[in-house]
Amino acid sequence: MILPIVGYGHPTLRKIAQPITKDYPNLKELVANMYETMYAADGVGLAAPQVDLSIRVVVIGFRPYDEKTNTYGEPTEEHTLINPEILSFGEKKDWFNEGCLSVPEIHEDVLRPTSLRLRWYDEDWQLHEEDIDGFFARVTQHEVDHLDGKVFTDRLSSLRRTMLKRRLNDIANGKVRTHYKMKRK
Ligand code: ZN
Repeated sequence: MILPIVGYGHPTLRKIAQPITKDYPNLKELVANMYETMYAADGVGLAAPQVDLSIRVVVIGFRPYDEKTNTYGEPTEEHTLINPEILSFGEKKDWFNEGCLSVPEIHEDVLRPTSLRLRWYDEDWQLHEEDIDGFFARVTQHEVDHLDGKVFTDRLSSLRRTMLKRRLNDIANGKVRTHYKMKRK
């Protein structure tokens, strides 16, 4: 089931999301719905607060895009993160142009560490602790920010944020068009 996505300015995006326990009701169904919602919106990551649930659950997925047929292939990478914890960061940082399903039409370069050590549970409640990098590390940082009440535009310079202010206000006021369903305040 595709869930509506909340946009910039929605109060749930500003809350600190709560960890869940093993007996959280219908967790597998929620995770499946989050993947479906993310792919339907052409996203590569989705945090539960973006579907108006203030809990520490994240899905990350990558599907190759075929430009000849304009279709997506099967996912080559998927990660379900439950109660993820970033334990440490690597020293190297780089810039990457980020976007967010809750902040439509805005894409900005964000500087972040390229690697980190992550501990998380998967949807079968298996505990993982790994050093991760690349796509996984980048998207994880963006999504863990959502769990901590932050969006990627918070990480831009104050000048850049001032320049984006009107567009962010428009999103907060529902004045943005998306090909996926958004939930208003
Ligand atoms: Zn986001």
